[in-house]
Amino acid sequence: MKKEIVVLGAGFGGIKAAFILHKCLKRLSLLDKYEIVLVDKNTYHTYTPTLYEAATTSKDIANQIKLKNIVTFPLKTAFQGREVVLLNKKIKELDLVGGDIHFGDGGKLKFDYLVIALGSETNYFDIAGLEENSLTLKTFMDAIKIRDAIWDKVDAGAKKIKIVIGGGGSTGVELAGEIQSWTCQLDKELKNCKTAVKIIEGQPTILPGFDEKVIKKVTKRLKKIGVEILLGEFIEKVEPNKIYLKSKQLENFDILIWTGGVKASRLTGALPLRKDEKGKQIAVKEKMECLPQTDDLKLYGKIYGIGDAVCCYYAETGKPVPKIAEVAIQQAKIAAHNIIEDIKLSEKIISVPKYKKYRPKISEFPYIIPIGGKYAIAKFGSVVISGFLGWVLKGLVELYYILLNVFPPYQAIKIWLKGLLIFIKNDRLG
Ligand SMILES: Cc1cc2nc3c(=O)[nH]c(=O)nc-3n(C[C@H](O)[C@H](O)[C@H](O)COP(=O)(O)OP(=O)(O)OC[C@H]3O[C@@H](n4cnc5c(N)ncnc54)[C@H](O)[C@@H]3O)c2cc1C
Repeated sequence: MKKEIVVLGAGFGGIKAAFILHKCLKRLSLLDKYEIVLVDKNTYHTYTPTLYEAATTSKDIANQIKLKNIVTFPLKTAFQGREVVLLNKKIKELDLVGGDIHFGDGGKLKFDYLVIALGSETNYFDIAGLEENSLTLKTFMDAIKIRDAIWDKVDAGAKKIKIVIGGGGSTGVELAGEIQSWTCQLDKELKNCKTAVKIIEGQPTILPGFDEKVIKKVTKRLKKIGVEILLGEFIEKVEPNKIYLKSKQLENFDILIWTGGVKASRLTGALPLRKDEKGKQIAVKEKMECLPQTDDLKLYGKIYGIGDAVCCYYAETGKPVPKIAEVAIQQAKIAAHNIIEDIKLSEKIISVPKYKKYRPKISEFPYIIPIGGKYAIAKFGSVVISGFLGWVLKGLVELYYILLNVFPPYQAIKIWLKGLLIFIKNDRLG
């Protein structure tokens, strides 16, 4: 019987891990002894960096089917010609002591090696009425719901649609900019703008934790394109069309979009694994291996955790590593390498494994924040670039750091070009 290497989640981390595992096992001629299984509740991968644009693309530029083809990619195509079993199932429960993965349909699967790459969930922080009265932006359907909510109001003849975005992190500010550039003519005066967009952020600044220079530039740009920013205000309660703030101020809204945080999924949060200091997210060690919650607990097989599902810290500052695609990809490389070392050891190909360690460095990746139209603020090392050049760099960085790192070159370039051809046209309500 083949040994099972099961990768849970076909996000950036899971896909990258499955690709590397396949390549290495093929090279070692071990695919007849080991089977790689990639499990996801969807048959496709969601390319999150284009979700903002999908949420703000007019129907006559791209209908839902066309947009889905740009933002999501069938796993079958990505793994064509590779011996990776794709299992389209929703995971209901993980038994890490017995070694079983339980699915929503009642079935189960045993693992020998496990990679947990299940991403994160929106965190509503138990704010009364928030989940029921807001939209969010994590999946393709979330993007479509935002687009339709704005579009329905425009169609109904609304003169000014009040959109509140809860959370001024990168998702919140990028979405605010995209909505504003979609519904207003940014190159003209903002008089005919169909929306009034307001960001509400609890911290004293938007983009908490980002570089000061970037925060200043993003704030200036948002204000210039008509986005209102309310800082240091916490949402306490939400009712239909009404937000109660901690300061007792009341905010009305037509559409509320919550981008205020993510948390471990219910599934991973409940696992008997060592967690971060708040006891919520899986804390992994440098080898990306998960450790049992208590020393006397014996886990089944070898278990690794990567990406948004886990928590890692910078050695220099003790601060958490950001939850971004590049990090998930890097961690996938480490976990896959270490699994292969374990396999080489048990197959007696080597006698001493050469494990790799994940040692994140601050400012390792350039980051780029698009803010409305073909305008972005980019930070490369200590250099900050803004404007059209920043927007061009965003496309190139996505291609180089994410797409080419996850997908084979031909597929990566096709995915990139398909998005570019549509999103280059989406600066107008059509
Ligand atoms: C709007 C938005 C924009 C972003 N833009 C960028 C960007 O420009 N650059 C960047 O680097 N990062 C960006 N990110 C962050 C990036 O998407 C994440 O950091 C990255 O997706 C994490 O990868 P992952 O593999 O850990 O998890 P994910 O990519 O979230 O994948 C998790 C997978 O697990 C599956 N899954 C979850 N639960 C179950 C279950 N119970 N059963 C079966 N399958 C399940 C999901 O379907 C999903 O496919 C963005 C995120 C958002 C929301």
